[in-house]
Amino acid sequence: MHDVIIIGAGPAGLSAARWCDELGLDTLVLEQAEEVGGQLLSVYNPIENYLGVLAKNGGELRDLFVAQTQASDFDLWTNVEIENVDLKARRVALRSGEELQSIAIIIATGLRRRRLGIPGETEFSGRGIIESATRDREQFAGKDVCVIGGGDAAAENALLLAEVCPTVTLVNRGRKMRARREFTEQLHTHHCITVFPESRVLRILGTDAIEAVEIERGGALKPFQMAVQGVLVRIGWEPNSDFIRGQLELDEKGYVVVGAYHETSVANVFAIGDVANPLAPTIAGAVGAGATAAKVIAARLQK
Ligand SMILES: Cc1cc2nc3c(=O)[nH]c(=O)nc-3n(C[C@H](O)[C@H](O)[C@H](O)COP(=O)(O)OP(=O)(O)OC[C@H]3O[C@@H](n4cnc5c(N)ncnc54)[C@H](O)[C@@H]3O)c2cc1C
Repeated sequence: MHDVIIIGAGPAGLSAARWCDELGLDTLVLEQAEEVGGQLLSVYNPIENYLGVLAKNGGELRDLFVAQTQASDFDLWTNVEIENVDLKARRVALRSGEELQSIAIIIATGLRRRRLGIPGETEFSGRGIIESATRDREQFAGKDVCVIGGGDAAAENALLLAEVCPTVTLVNRGRKMRARREFTEQLHTHHCITVFPESRVLRILGTDAIEAVEIERGGALKPFQMAVQGVLVRIGWEPNSDFIRGQLELDEKGYVVVGAYHETSVANVFAIGDVANPLAPTIAGAVGAGATAAKVIAARLQK
């Protein structure tokens, strides 16, 4: 029996764990990935808006978080697969067979990138799927690439790739790009970038690596294939809340609904960070929510 089980070890979960330990709560953190850090591990730009720290990328900030939790006494299990959770009973069953129980649960499972769910998207991971233009663009220099999406992230990545790629085709489901004007103006005047509005990529094709995409273009009669060697998908984010769906209040997009102190609709269950923050996801917000939830739990347990 633990005082607190924290699910997720991104900035929110790590902050909650650090605070729970400081407040004398017996704490176990469960992380599904091999490494802690969450989204920080995919931030390749400098982070300059988290007050008190200037980090050259998310990995550096993650390392600082880890260094600062090293002296803490909470248990951290990585590579954990949760089989099911009973929030009311605050019981967590792991795929490995362990049954865990706690007085309070903190959900800190963050977001994941939305996927297209089309053939080739998973198969070509690491063989032509571009994870980040900032990180991977040198690897794709001189290659023709396709970017899928219509928001800021798709536009920014297309512009970065256009610095090194001869052609960048931006495939957008909507009629207009949703990206900010500063990006769209550059997109429409850039000589390497072609935007296909009201269009969809149906399949990613190739043998050992990506060789083409099949596109259904708005207005065109039938789908056609276009040769590309790289594909980058930026179609938004979704909360990691499927595993608790039906047990607590979620909004229409699946974000956990919380009160001022990050309490959910289930007693002694809290949700912190991006999974409960549809409007303003930030590192500062996640770290702050971790501190708040830990302090409220400690106060209720009168530690
Ligand atoms: C490219 C990029 C740039 C960004 N730049 C900035 C910036 O400059 N400033 C800023 O403030 N924010 C920035 N952000 C946002 C910031 O990274 C997030 O707001 C922050 O990481 C949220 O922390 P979190 O702990 O709530 O969630 P996450 O970081 O998403 O961490 C959630 C953790 O939970 C784990 N998890 C999920 N499901 C389960 C499960 N079922 N069982 C166990 N573990 C699970 C995940 O593996 C992950 O480790 C950026 C994000 C990206 C992607």
